Amino acid sequence: MFNKRTKIKDLLAQKPEGQQVTVMGWVRTFRNNQFIALNDGSTNNNIQVVAGLGKFGDELLKRITLSASLKVTGTLDPSLGKGQTMDLNATAIEVLGDSDAEKYPLQLKNRPTLEYLREKAHLRFRTNTFGSVFRVRHALAFAIHKFFNDKGFVYMHTPIITGSDAEGAGELFRVTTLPFDKPPRNDDGTVNFKEDFFGKSTNLTVSGQLEGELAATAFGDIYTFGPTFRAENSNTARHLAEFWMIEPEMAFYDLEDNMNLAEEFIKYIIKYGMENNREDLEFLAQRLAEEEKQLPQDKRSEMGLIEKLEFVLNNSFERLTYTDAITILKDSNHNKKKKFQYEITGWGMDLQSEHERYLVEKHFKKPVILYNYPAAIKAFYMRQNDGCAEGQQTVAAMDILAPGIGEIVGGSQREERLDKLEARMKEMHIPVEEMWWYLDTRRFGTVPHAGFGLGFERMVQFVTGMTNIRDVIAFPRTPGSAEF
Ligand code: ATP
Ligand code: MN
Repeated sequence: MFNKRTKIKDLLAQKPEGQQVTVMGWVRTFRNNQFIALNDGSTNNNIQVVAGLGKFGDELLKRITLSASLKVTGTLDPSLGKGQTMDLNATAIEVLGDSDAEKYPLQLKNRPTLEYLREKAHLRFRTNTFGSVFRVRHALAFAIHKFFNDKGFVYMHTPIITGSDAEGAGELFRVTTLPFDKPPRNDDGTVNFKEDFFGKSTNLTVSGQLEGELAATAFGDIYTFGPTFRAENSNTARHLAEFWMIEPEMAFYDLEDNMNLAEEFIKYIIKYGMENNREDLEFLAQRLAEEEKQLPQDKRSEMGLIEKLEFVLNNSFERLTYTDAITILKDSNHNKKKKFQYEITGWGMDLQSEHERYLVEKHFKKPVILYNYPAAIKAFYMRQNDGCAEGQQTVAAMDILAPGIGEIVGGSQREERLDKLEARMKEMHIPVEEMWWYLDTRRFGTVPHAGFGLGFERMVQFVTGMTNIRDVIAFPRTPGSAEF
């Protein structure tokens, strides 16, 4: 058996009393031809392997280089040196894989930048920063499943290839097997998708919500957690062309129930990370503090990462209507001094990211839930609020805005009344006939229901303090880039 090894994380939790152990990992440093810092990805902490002088031949020692992989057996003893509590005194060292230190792309001593590491994404997991980020990402994914499982939600796998555009936003990646240089055409010159693989035009999903609603109206509570794709050409620090989304959908929920669940959910994920990944978060907090030292004083965060997460856990999110938000923005000094790039034109306007960030970071200084948006700027399936003034029709939508990130959750109560839904779809030119399956939930035992979508990477950004979304997904897909 090859894989009889102790993980370094578990090793470091043991009491060193001369017990024999085997570890395997990659060399981080090798000092004085004697001390090897070995890392196996279970923690950022290395085990100090001591290759006692004279015990190993020069041929072997020469092969202990940066990022070479080793199998080491030895005894775990209290350390004589400073900086670590235990040493692994090697009795056997085997080089599993050599590494030419001169050619190794990540020379840790010159502190590669995050931008540089993005180009070496195949190796960046071997750095402390990305070790921490991806262990935290894993833990948060696990926490998400645990949260819903404990509440009796059913995990639904909604299709990746779909024939519908949930948002009607048209930011779709088409899926086709037709020859793109000479596709079959209809008499009017348009492409004949009847001859395509699925007999119709299909695309990668932008959201699993519509299918999620079908399941929620049978199971009550469901969630999805899967990849979503948007061909939006936004080259920002918070948009990916391929990202992971969590979409719970709950029958017998109104907008307030929805907001309550979303807030509880976000806090649960953060708390889970704080309790289970403390070491990684402390490392990331330090990293962020270092990074922010480069920024001018007014651009630095008021709180450290850990402090920020604790603050979010211990305070309720500010809830206010879109209409109130517009008033605050209009009356703000920021607006009066014309400091917004996009003017506050008044009720009905779509909020830009700078407006959202003003509310969250400058005005309330905490996460904010905005709700009851104008119908005109939201999707067709959102529930139309009753009793709105003429020209001020709102829908029961809500967005959660987080400091440093902006929108992290988008959700709504869904329109469960068939007549209202159909009327809205016609107004918005959504093909009612094609959506017969969706409308059937409103025909047979319709119920009030609601749901939301949380962008997983934005959540990971928030918890890890990473400023660019490309640094919290292993192999980012963005406009012009699909490497690895
Ligand atoms: P934004 O205005 O930031 O583009 P959106 O309104 O398009 O967001 P929704 O359609 O409501 O977002 O999607 C739900 C959630 O998915 C968002 O709250 C966000 O957390 C996440 N999200 C949306 N688009 C992206 C993207 N391109 N990359 C990463 N996450 C995204
Ligand atoms: Mn978007």
